[in-house]
Amino acid sequence: MLIALSVLISRQFRRRLAMENHLRLMVNTDGLTGIGSRRALDEAADIEWRRAWRNQQPLSLLMIDVDHFKNFNDHYGHAGGDDALAAVARCIADSIRRPGDYAARYGGEEFAVLLPNTGMEGTIAVAEKIRSAVESLAIPNLGSANQVLTVSIGVAIAEDRARFANLRVFFNASDEALYEAKASGRNRVAIAADEAQGSAAKSAAQKG
Ligand code: GH3
Ligand code: MG
Ligand code: MG
Repeated sequence: MLIALSVLISRQFRRRLAMENHLRLMVNTDGLTGIGSRRALDEAADIEWRRAWRNQQPLSLLMIDVDHFKNFNDHYGHAGGDDALAAVARCIADSIRRPGDYAARYGGEEFAVLLPNTGMEGTIAVAEKIRSAVESLAIPNLGSANQVLTVSIGVAIAEDRARFANLRVFFNASDEALYEAKASGRNRVAIAADEAQGSAAKSAAQKG
């Protein structure tokens, strides 16, 4: 009797654990694209933000937005739009390789990537890889300048606490850079202003 009861209890326990794991996976995964959800991104950002300061390592954030996507939906329908978003997400996931790198759907046709311990050069390389991977898909988008689906990317790199008081300021900086990428023609990578000036000053100093 006792054995039967303990078998029953342990079976119930395993079932409950499996169910909890399944639910956790569901809330942390974006249903359409299979990459991280907004909720999981918020959690990962919080963890990586603390870790970066604790270990005195940089943390980079890419904010990625599909160009002229409203136009794409209007031409190819919502289902076609959903397929395109899944393809863009695959480009993003395939472009990040290091453990700790994290990609998520931020909402609608916006994605975000966290790159822990990656300097300016590496961050720009990943962003450029994503941008060109999406362009290379050659998915037609008649509303775009070069007639294919493209993305614009805003980059922020947190290297010192003085500039980014908190995560929100950090996210805002990548958003502003994204706006800059859109305003200067789309299908490009833009870096948050202070960092761009910092790197220009650094390279000027090196030249001098
Ligand atoms: P911009 O280059 O300035 O980013 O222009 P845009 O048209 O991409 O920007 P806007 O924000 O005006 O439009 C975003 C559109 O993305 C609105 C909606 O039609 C589409 N969209 C958002 N989420 C989804 C989704 O889950 N599936 C599909 N198919 N379309 C979506
Ligand atoms: Mg958008
Ligand atoms: Mg857009």
